[in-house]
Amino acid sequence: MSKSLQAIRGMNDILPDQTPLWRYFEATVAGLLDTYGYRQIRMPIVEFTELFKRSIGEVTDIVEKEMYTFEDRNGDSLTLRPEGTAACVRAVLEHGISGGGQVQKLWYMGPMFRHERPQKGRYRQFNQIGLEVFNLEGPDIDAELIVLTWRLWAALGIRDAVKLELNSLGTSEARARYRDALVAFLTQHLDVLDEDSQRRLKTNPLRVLDTKHPETQAVLINAPKLADYLDEESRVHFEGLKARLDAVGIPYVINPKLVRGLDYYSKTVFEWVTDKLGAQGTVCAGGRYDGLVEQMGGKPTPGVGFAMGIERLILLLETLEQVPDSIARQVDVYLCAFGEAAELAGLALAERVRDQLPGLRLQVNAGAGSFKSQFKKADKSGALFALILGDDEMAARQIGVKPLRGQGEQLNIAWDALAEHLATCAVQA
Ligand code: ATP
Ligand code: MG
Repeated sequence: MSKSLQAIRGMNDILPDQTPLWRYFEATVAGLLDTYGYRQIRMPIVEFTELFKRSIGEVTDIVEKEMYTFEDRNGDSLTLRPEGTAACVRAVLEHGISGGGQVQKLWYMGPMFRHERPQKGRYRQFNQIGLEVFNLEGPDIDAELIVLTWRLWAALGIRDAVKLELNSLGTSEARARYRDALVAFLTQHLDVLDEDSQRRLKTNPLRVLDTKHPETQAVLINAPKLADYLDEESRVHFEGLKARLDAVGIPYVINPKLVRGLDYYSKTVFEWVTDKLGAQGTVCAGGRYDGLVEQMGGKPTPGVGFAMGIERLILLLETLEQVPDSIARQVDVYLCAFGEAAELAGLALAERVRDQLPGLRLQVNAGAGSFKSQFKKADKSGALFALILGDDEMAARQIGVKPLRGQGEQLNIAWDALAEHLATCAVQA
């Protein structure tokens, strides 16, 4: 195929064989969030570039080198959203739904865009499910976010494969004090730092902690520790979170180097990581961002949230073979009809059955065909039963119900009794 007719690198089709697993995943998450009282919000995919610069921060990987930014026909600079928090905060502010201190527990789902190097678990268009909570400042809600993901991992059958890493970044004042100490320390070792870290030392020194360069990592071993600079309020908050995770029995490790890529976090940050996916091991990440709403022009409003990467979680389900059998089958019964009269009768009968059994997945053969070819299609569809309508059945106003997966003999059922019969043997629970 010529190059111009291919999908863009790092932007993937999700083919019909894969969508059942996606829908199962999305429905599992949405159902769980309903039970915890979260409500869905849907934001546009494109926003003014300024929104992301202001919220995510100028000196972050995303804003420095990952955004899909373009000028529209009015000359406005627009960007395909690289994450959901910025737009969610923008929407909440624009519609005034958190201004009077109202608690909002929101979730969203959809594609995000980052110009990264595509590889397993890392794409240029990828999907997230994100949660954001506004106007709750205590560690109880931080804990709830983690507790509900813990329940989700169990529902998906992947709890044993993920582990929770936690850290506290403190208030912005505490972080400022720590930043000064870190800069003073790193400046003494300037010549050993890698180029990126040297630059970040001036612009966003905390990000140096995130470095992948071994030489810089070696220097960091003796660097001042963020934990020693935590303010009392953040310390108490962090203890409150840990006590709640202990109460529910959720294991965690404290990772003092966990600083997260975005500028806006304060106090709690966390990541759920797995060692089953190679380098792209973080499946869900988030934290508290008490200063963000104000930074974006709103009243001071505490906020906390996370986002999970759907592709990585789908990969994990596949890797761990946690794909439920029930989602593999798309068809319950397949109706074969032979001859024009049987086709007409079959179509009308199928519609009557659909009226009576709305949940039944009933596929009617299209394109006619011999007994052999229709039967082959019925079998290939994965259906539990083939319904057979030929001359004999037409004459008797009956239909043959033939088990395709080895559950007994073929039965002939009167047309009027078909729905009742299928209700007992073919409708999914
Ligand atoms: P990473 O360190 O892997 O680049 P990040 O810190 O940039 O992740 P976040 O912005 O916190 O990621 O996004 C939350 C989640 O979204 C990640 O934990 C991951 O599961 C998923 N994610 C982020 N970027 C990508 C991507 N390019 N492709 C697929 N999933 C992604
Ligand atoms: Mg990233």
